[in-house]
Amino acid sequence: MKQYLVCRSCGYKKNFMEDRTCPNCSDIMIDGEGNKNAYFENKMKYPSVDSSLCTLCGKCISVCAVSAIYNDRKSVSIFIEKCTNCGRCISICPENAISR
Ligand code: SF4
Ligand code: SF4
Repeated sequence: MKQYLVCRSCGYKKNFMEDRTCPNCSDIMIDGEGNKNAYFENKMKYPSVDSSLCTLCGKCISVCAVSAIYNDRKSVSIFIEKCTNCGRCISICPENAISR
């Protein structure tokens, strides 16, 4: 199984490496696969879309640098496997439809 490091503060994920400093917020990163509870707790902090508020405007998709947001024409979804938890989509959504 692929091993991850997960930042204990912001939830940023990266492939396992010796350097455990989070490139996003500089806090310490913990094992993902090696500590499944921590991994899933951090997953809970990733953004998700409230489809009852979303108007499918597409602004979040255009601002996501890692193409982690998809529009299937009925709803918008965030794939946390790709998401770096940067928060840009949350900031730009005019409907406040995205939150952690
Ligand atoms: S938090 Fe950042 S990386 Fe994650 S879906 Fe939003 S814009 Fe993309
Ligand atoms: S920016 Fe907000 S309203 Fe627009 S598509 Fe994304 S989640 Fe929906």
